[in-house]
Amino acid sequence: MEKQNTKILDFFRPSKEVKAKDPTDEVWTDPPLPPAIEASDSAVGAAVSVSDDDECPELLKPHQPDLDLILTQTLANRTLKFQAKWFKDFSWLHFDERLCKVLCYTCVSASRKKLFGTCSGSFVDTFIRSGFCNWKKALEKFHAHQKSKRHAITVEKINALKQTDVHAQIETQIKDNQILAQKALVKIITSLRYLAEEGCAIRGKDASEGNFKKLLSLRSEDDANLANWLKRTTNYTSVEIQNEILLIMRNAALREICQDINEQSVQFAVIVDGTQDIRGIEQEAICIRYVGSDLDVEEDLIGLYEINATTGVAVATMLKYVLLRLQLSITNLHGQTYDRASNMSGSNLGCQDEVKKVQPLAKYVH
Ligand SMILES: [Zn+2]
Repeated sequence: MEKQNTKILDFFRPSKEVKAKDPTDEVWTDPPLPPAIEASDSAVGAAVSVSDDDECPELLKPHQPDLDLILTQTLANRTLKFQAKWFKDFSWLHFDERLCKVLCYTCVSASRKKLFGTCSGSFVDTFIRSGFCNWKKALEKFHAHQKSKRHAITVEKINALKQTDVHAQIETQIKDNQILAQKALVKIITSLRYLAEEGCAIRGKDASEGNFKKLLSLRSEDDANLANWLKRTTNYTSVEIQNEILLIMRNAALREICQDINEQSVQFAVIVDGTQDIRGIEQEAICIRYVGSDLDVEEDLIGLYEINATTGVAVATMLKYVLLRLQLSITNLHGQTYDRASNMSGSNLGCQDEVKKVQPLAKYVH
């Protein structure tokens, strides 16, 4: 869970990929494409249905029914039955009702999932294809199969595949959550943009009230995803996130304005005026006047800037610094407009005079 002050841009970065072991990494010789293992419809608790389909969606468990369903083996002098404890001792034993024989569920599953190529041999024929029902040699053959190298590697590959499935599920879950979060974030951003465009206050007396929270609450009535998102502890609506989003939007707007000036208008003028804020600190508002791409005169407020002194030199220094940050060349400044206060309009050390020392063509207009 991210902290509330997590950077908003972190959200759009792709999640780290969960790397799973590729079960086909190992080179192995050619197992066969076995016949389907099918649990009959009547088999109570049948947990296997490995069909002829290419995809085996899940690894379930072997079919190990009541012993009554398993045929006995009749010899000359006795009758042999399948022993219940064999299912316990060899958990991979799977009874195929169609064949009336037992198979190795693990090896057949691996073959059905095409973890191997094709091959033939007694190993394949007995426990993967034809089945086994010679109970007289049951223990001997079961042990031999279980100890075989092929069975051991098959178990390893199947386990790796299960692990892969888990990783895939986790990855899918992460992506789903990310999509829902991004949809909610878009609603948050567009709500802020609307309020900013309309010049509405974002917050009220404290962060828990105000237009932003009310607008989101209203929009969540028609959006269940947003409603759920807002119930989260970390929902990206904190004051810090609001300010970060507004800053991103402000920078994007500034970049667009400056690009328009440099590419379309080239020449521009500035309008500067200031006043003290509630803290008593001087704030200078800077507007830029230029000709837009549609040949209409544009006049955009680009920001409020704090200064420590109100002298003409201080204001002019601040103005030159702002133009430099915006990559607007002062050589293209052809007009400056201020009030008639001496610090701004004065011909000696006034702001307009200080600017003219750098750009004499910047005509001062009251
Ligand atoms: Zn096996």
